[in-house]
Parts: sequence; C-alpha cells; structure tokens
Amino acid sequence: MSEHVNTPLSQRRVGTAAVLPIQDVTATMPIERFRGGGIETLAATSPGLAAPSSYAAFLVRRGAEAVLVDTGLGSEAPEKFSRLPHVLERAGLAAGDIGAVLLTHCHMDHVGGLVKNDSAAFPNATLFLSEPERDFWTSDAHMAQFPERRAGFLFVRRVLELYTGRVHTFRFDETVLPGIRALDAVGHTAGHAAFLLESEGESLLFGADIVHAALWQFPNPDIYATFDLDKDKGIASRRRLLSLAADAALPLAGAHLPFPCIGMVRRSGDGFTFVPDASDTGG
Ligand SMILES: [Zn+2]
Repeated sequence: MSEHVNTPLSQRRVGTAAVLPIQDVTATMPIERFRGGGIETLAATSPGLAAPSSYAAFLVRRGAEAVLVDTGLGSEAPEKFSRLPHVLERAGLAAGDIGAVLLTHCHMDHVGGLVKNDSAAFPNATLFLSEPERDFWTSDAHMAQFPERRAGFLFVRRVLELYTGRVHTFRFDETVLPGIRALDAVGHTAGHAAFLLESEGESLLFGADIVHAALWQFPNPDIYATFDLDKDKGIASRRRLLSLAADAALPLAGAHLPFPCIGMVRRSGDGFTFVPDASDTGG
C-alpha cells in the first residue's frame, strides 16, 4: 500500500475536463472465469493462467465540479482497500465536494465506496444509475433468483436508502449531466451503462465492465466472463462499444483495465488491440 502514497496522480485531459483513475488494487483475472471464443482450449493447456487487471473508479474534474464514475471497493470490509479517500485528498477534495456519482452498475466493486460507517460517504452527491439496473437490484424476484448475490442486493438497497431523494435513474442515450451521455452496455448486468464524456470537441468513453481481462477480450471480444449476467448481450455490447472507441479514436477508461485503466483501442483483425496510456499522462 505504501508505495502508492507518493505516486503522482495520473490523469488524462479531455477538453477542459480531467479524468483521474482511482485504482484500488492491481489484480489478475484467472482464465477459469472466462468462456467462449476458444479460450477453453487455452485454459485446458495452461491452467492457472491469469490476465493483468485492476479494480478502479474514476474522478472527473471540470472546473469546480467533481464527479465520480463508480466508487470502487470501498472500505467497509477489512479485506477491502479503497484508494478513493487518498486520491480525493491528493486532489484537494473533500467527500462533500463530490456533486454526482455516475454508476455503471451495482456490483460491490463499483458501489462499495458509496457507504462509510453505514452513512452516505458523499453527503452532497446525487447518484445516477440506469432504470433497468435499479429495477434489477430492487426486485425481490431477482434477489430470490440469485441467492449467491444476496449480500449485494441488500447492500444496493441500503445505498438507495442512504441516498433517498438524491437518486436519479436514467435511460440509455440520455444526457445525465452536461457533456456526459449514458450508453447501453447491457450484458454484464441488467442495466450496465457506459458513459461518453465530451468537452470542447474531445471525448472519452467510460466503458465500465465491458472488458475484465484485456489480454484475452480485446483480441477476441467473444470471450466472456462467467459472471456476466447475459453473455450474448455482453458480447454484443463489448463489440459495439470497442468499435465505437476504435472508429472514433476515443480513449477508453475501464474499471478492470490494467493501470492506468485508460488507453486507446485499435481494430485488429476481427478484434482489437489496447494501448494503455503512459501512467503519467498529462502530469
Ligand atoms: Zn466490476
């Protein structure tokens, strides 16, 4: 942990906005968690193989405005390590300065940071999440259908209670904040959202969890994670959004991309390659 303390804050400029990755931890994704696109053959011959990955959220600064895209693992459970408070402090921000939190989806590694000491970690923030994502996690039928995710369902419901009156649900293609549009990324979860940030003619795509294992899923987007809710929709969303990023030369920011969790996507054969930003981009 301590090696992070004096690391300069990495950031990427998008017009007048700055996007800062907040990487909680570096991680690896084991090949056994992936299927499709022929990866089973690789898994059979190379058991234990793992792809470099991350758990991350992002801070967007536009003048005095501070917006979070997801909140990372949070710090409620002892095994969790959240770098969010550290990055905010280094950026000269208090929790009360965060005006909005855009949620790509409601898995624990994205909503964990919303709660601190069973209170709203961001007392002035409005939460934005998609209608289908809200509907999924508040459905008792779905909670009964996915007993292994019961703790997650209860956590999301607690979040919605703690932020009562400050939750805005959106539809895909809606402009959620000036210069930020929500895009359909459904598949990983029922209401999985990407966000397109535009400022002064420049853009960046927050791709959420369309890629968990960059090593395998950029070259072959048909490879899916076993924890994707709807693998076919997930594959379609991955191909659609990676095509958008590649064809429009949009930097892609992703919660599970290797640090600095932002880079460029290029077409390569039937798939893509990913070129991560230098980790000190923009200084
Ligand atoms: Zn995730």
